[in-house]
Amino acid sequence: MVITQPQAQPAVDALRTAITQFDNAAERLNLEEGTRAMLRRCKRELSVHFPVRMNDGSIRVFEGYRVQHNLARGPAKGGLRYNSNVSLDEVRALAMWMTWKSAVVNLPYGGAKGGVVVDPKQLSLGELENLTRRYATEISIIIGPDEDIPAPDMGTDGRIMAWIMDTISMHRGHTTAGVVTGKPVAVGGTLGRLEATGRGIQYVVEELSKDNGIGLEGSTVVVQGFGNVGAVAAQLLRRAGAKVIAVSDSSGALYNGEGLNIDSLMAYQKDRAPLSQAAGGDHLTNRELLSLRADFLIPAALEGQITAENADEVKARFIVEGANGPTTPEADAILAGNGVTVVPDIVANAGGVIVSYFEWVQDLQFYFWEESEVNERLHRVITRAYRDVRTTAAQQGISMREAAMMLAVGRVVEATKLRGIYP
Ligand code: GLU
Repeated sequence: MVITQPQAQPAVDALRTAITQFDNAAERLNLEEGTRAMLRRCKRELSVHFPVRMNDGSIRVFEGYRVQHNLARGPAKGGLRYNSNVSLDEVRALAMWMTWKSAVVNLPYGGAKGGVVVDPKQLSLGELENLTRRYATEISIIIGPDEDIPAPDMGTDGRIMAWIMDTISMHRGHTTAGVVTGKPVAVGGTLGRLEATGRGIQYVVEELSKDNGIGLEGSTVVVQGFGNVGAVAAQLLRRAGAKVIAVSDSSGALYNGEGLNIDSLMAYQKDRAPLSQAAGGDHLTNRELLSLRADFLIPAALEGQITAENADEVKARFIVEGANGPTTPEADAILAGNGVTVVPDIVANAGGVIVSYFEWVQDLQFYFWEESEVNERLHRVITRAYRDVRTTAAQQGISMREAAMMLAVGRVVEATKLRGIYP
C-alpha cells in the first residue's frame, strides 16, 4: 500500500500571502479583533484519506481536502485541484481567495476549495474515475447545490465534474446538476464556461487599455502558463488584435517579438507536447519570460511566481493575474515602487466563477441560455467589478489589490454583522 504524502513547501507561502493580504485589508477597514480572528481562519476543513483500486489490483490510499472558508454571503463555491503539491495550507489559501473573489464581483457565494494529492497524469482513465468518485463520496457530506459547489481548477476538467455530478446524483437517486459547475454542456453545463476565465481576462485587459489610452491593437502581451486560463486568454487577446510575444508552460517559454501563432501552439499542445520543444520562436526560461518588456504580463500558472527575488526584473507595465496568488506581498511592494500596476487575481480571473454562477442558476431553473447572453452578462459583471475597484483605488490612493480586498472584506463583514453571531 502506498500512502501519498503532500509536499508542504509552496503552500506555506500561499497561506502567508492570503493572510497578509487579509490583515492589510482588516487594518484599513479598522476591523475589530473578533471579526479579524473569524475571517483569518477557515470555517470548515475536511481532510479525507481514501482507498482507490488501481489497474494492477493494488490499493492506493490518497489524501484529499475540502475547505470552506466563509459562508456569510451564500453557499460555498470554489474549484477542485488535482496536483502532487496540494496541501491543506494551500487549499486554505485558495478557499480564502474564493471568498474575496465571490464578494468583489458580487456573487451570492462564500468561498471554498478542494484538492487531492495526486498527479492525474500518472493515472489511467479508469483510476482517475475511481479516485474522483470515491473522493466525491468522501466529501459528499459537505457538498451540494445549496451547500458547497465545486468546479474545475488545476488538474481537473469537465469530465471530472461530470463524474462528481453523477456520483452525487446516484447517492440522492435523482440528477443533481447544480452540485458542481464546469460540467460538459450535455450534462447541465453552460455554454461559455470553458473559455470564461480567459474571456474575463480579455475584458479586463480591454478596460485597462481604455483607461490608460493604450490601443489593444498592437499592444504586447506575455502569458505565463498555457492551460485553460493562459492559453484561452492568449488566444482571445490575439484575436482582439494584441501581439502575444511569449507564452510558457512548466517546460519553459517560447518568445517571438513579432507575435506567436497561438492557435497553432494550442493545436501543438493538445497532446501535452512541451512548449520547450515548440517551433515558432526562441526558447526562454520562465524567469526570463517574467522579465520581458511588454504592455501586459499575465501570470496564469501557479501561486508565488512573482516574489521579492524577481519582482525588480518585471518590465511589463501591467500585471493581470490569471492565476490565484501569483504575486507575494513583498513583490507587490516592489512592483508598486517601480510603477507596475497589478490587477489582482480576485478580479482578473473571476470570469470562471462568474460563469460558474450562471451555470448554477441555469441548473436550478432547468433553463439554459444562449452563449451570447452568457458572455454579455460576464462582461457586465466583471467590468463593473473592475471599475468599482479602480475607482476605490484612485479615490483612496491605494493599489487595486488593496481596493479589491477592502471591497470584498467589507461586503463579507457587512453580511456577517447583519446575520449576527449565532446563538
Ligand atoms: N477554480 C476557479 C477559480 O479559482 C473557478 C472556481 C469556480 O468556478 O467555482 O476561480
